[in-house]
Amino acid sequence: MGKTIIISNRLPVQLQISDGGLSAIPSVGGLATGMKSVHQGGESLWIGWSGLTNEDIPKGLGKEIDRALAEHGCSKVKLNKKDIEGYYFGFSNRTIWPLFHYFLEYSEFELDFWNRYKSVNQKFADAILEKADDDDIIWVHDYQLMLVPQMVKEKRPNATIGFFLHIPFPSYEIFRTLPWREEVLEGLLGADLIGFHTYDYERHFLSSVRRLLGLEVSFNDIYLENRVIKVDSFPMGIDYDKFHEAAKKSNALKGKKRSDLQLKLDEHKKSAPDTKLIVSIDRLDYSKGIAKRINAFEYFLNKYPDYKERVRLIILAVPSRSNVPQYQLLKREIDELVGRINGELATVNWTPIWYFYRSLPFENLIDLYISSDIAWLTPLRDGMNLVAKEYIATRTDKTGVLILSEMAGSAYEMNEALLINPNNFEQQADTLKQAITMPKEEQMARTMFLQNRLKRYNVEVWANEFMNALKEQRKGAAQVVSLQMDHAILTNVLAAYKKAKKRLLFLDYDGTLAGFHKDPQKASPDEELYDLLDQLNAKEENTVFLISGRDKETFSRWFLHKKYNMIVEHGVWISRNGAEFSLLEKVKGEWMAKIMPVLESFVDRTPGSFIEEKNYSLAWHYRNTDPDFGDKRATELNTVLTSLIGNDDISVLNGNKVMEVKSSNVNKGRASVRILGEDDFDFVFAIGDDWTDEFMFAELPESTVTVKVGLQKTQAKYHVDGTKKVRELLKQFIAHS
Ligand code: UDP
Repeated sequence: MGKTIIISNRLPVQLQISDGGLSAIPSVGGLATGMKSVHQGGESLWIGWSGLTNEDIPKGLGKEIDRALAEHGCSKVKLNKKDIEGYYFGFSNRTIWPLFHYFLEYSEFELDFWNRYKSVNQKFADAILEKADDDDIIWVHDYQLMLVPQMVKEKRPNATIGFFLHIPFPSYEIFRTLPWREEVLEGLLGADLIGFHTYDYERHFLSSVRRLLGLEVSFNDIYLENRVIKVDSFPMGIDYDKFHEAAKKSNALKGKKRSDLQLKLDEHKKSAPDTKLIVSIDRLDYSKGIAKRINAFEYFLNKYPDYKERVRLIILAVPSRSNVPQYQLLKREIDELVGRINGELATVNWTPIWYFYRSLPFENLIDLYISSDIAWLTPLRDGMNLVAKEYIATRTDKTGVLILSEMAGSAYEMNEALLINPNNFEQQADTLKQAITMPKEEQMARTMFLQNRLKRYNVEVWANEFMNALKEQRKGAAQVVSLQMDHAILTNVLAAYKKAKKRLLFLDYDGTLAGFHKDPQKASPDEELYDLLDQLNAKEENTVFLISGRDKETFSRWFLHKKYNMIVEHGVWISRNGAEFSLLEKVKGEWMAKIMPVLESFVDRTPGSFIEEKNYSLAWHYRNTDPDFGDKRATELNTVLTSLIGNDDISVLNGNKVMEVKSSNVNKGRASVRILGEDDFDFVFAIGDDWTDEFMFAELPESTVTVKVGLQKTQAKYHVDGTKKVRELLKQFIAHS
């Protein structure tokens, strides 16, 4: 069992250099706490940036820093000032952050940022590779390190890699505007498990993977060459007990023992017992909707003027990324807004908004939470929003109301909160009123539900669930769906091939011998393929059959002059040694006239799809349609056809981006078994890529060497990656004859 390596932009340790020397203090943030159970003992290592650039580290202190970090199981990635500017403040915070939070207009697409992001991600990957063994589990965190999984996978293909994104993944329409979108997706796909906070982010990611990379996605599995990558949602929780216990403790403190802030808040409550305190806490970030919230508060006071002097909004805005221009502008906007509204509405006894621009120590944060009747959080877009969960955890007597934006990831788990759309001022004003007047029993009932859930699914459970899923992935990778045709298997197969006197080979065409083309007629054989097939056929011991769903006209054009054996239309027609095609199976075709109009109506309604008319079957191709839409239509067509054909002797086959309606008694399995019965073959081989080939894999005898092209559920014994590998395999046969 290998070790665990965690990697994030920042290490969970704060370094402080003072006259007295160096100190390393563990951070108390959500991630650091959550990872406690994962990052413990000697079997785990956390790699990240220390917070000090190379320029910040005094000469000679490097080694001492390494020692101090090592005591906390940490190892630093060395970054210079330019790295931090381009990779962190640049690409991470001026390109990805705004884009993934739907602030397209704030996203800067700078090539320099991107190049720096790549080189710094490589530095992180190198730091991992230096320490990682083949059987390690590696967990990469967040949007600053999206290229790391692939960079590590390339060099350590057997390591198990997980990635968790702590911010939203935007819809395809937004994501596709990124000039380096494919590279980012490919970077992420180096991971074996990719986690998001919500199902929606997961859905958006899968959609981008399909549309931009054209990869096959089945439920939440992505098929990439010989790997299956799992995508799932794991909503991050908080350290519930820590907040709950701290609140209990703070409530119990008496007199002077209470914090200065708490005493001030107590005083305020005493002097105006009817006044409600509303709190909002966020980093000062445009995604948090702070300015809109202040405007909505003014709107509320004007709509319900009775509440003037009876409510107060406390805004705690924590300084963040203050060297990024957008954040400086936002700070000015909020300063001005608060000033204007307080100036206009304040009375001798009342200031509507108390505004703090700073970060508060943990104890004060708790004081704010426990003293506030309402928490009002209105992000325009937020990956999760932990403040919402923390507020609920501190409500020891279960009173208090949470008003939360629907645009926060946490809203999906917090249905009992009052959910609002931050852009709807009318709704927000009414919801504030509802919160202010909510009966205690209702407050308690809602809080109880929320607390139960938060307590159960806390941050430790979150981390463990992710790790368990990652370990499952590792187990799963070993027993995918069929065995990869590796060196040992190939050696055995070749030995059996060589020994045999009468060999029978069934070769599917599309997706097996030749790749797919937008227009099926253009996927014609190339010289290399002809040459391969010629050589295979030339061996006296070999009987080779091309076996395809294609129509006989196309195959006649391509192969008849070559005198290859062919079975087409899934087994309707056969041609041997250059003879004209004849019927292998008796079939009826009367049903075709009934089905044709149905398919035509689907073509009309599904741009990019078309019908291929064969002698005894009809195929609806949808490779060139929008992938999501095409799949949706295929499901729809399947339902329509199934109900239409009833007990008729026809069936619907789902191929690789094609749906084929044909007579039931015809399939490649039946056809191949008939040929097999014609002689005493001592080596039988069948290879193919889609569902129509599964009939061969299922019906040919157990001793057959069955090979699936691509990594999908199959009845074949082995799989190979793609058409290139198929040709290599055939070349090996030729060499071993
Ligand atoms: N927080 C803090 N100091 C403060 C105010 C807030 O450490 O002065 C913490 C707060 O307890 C919460 C985190 O900052 O855990 C904010 O997390 P959230 O998910 O709400 O937003 P993010 O900043 O990650 O976008």
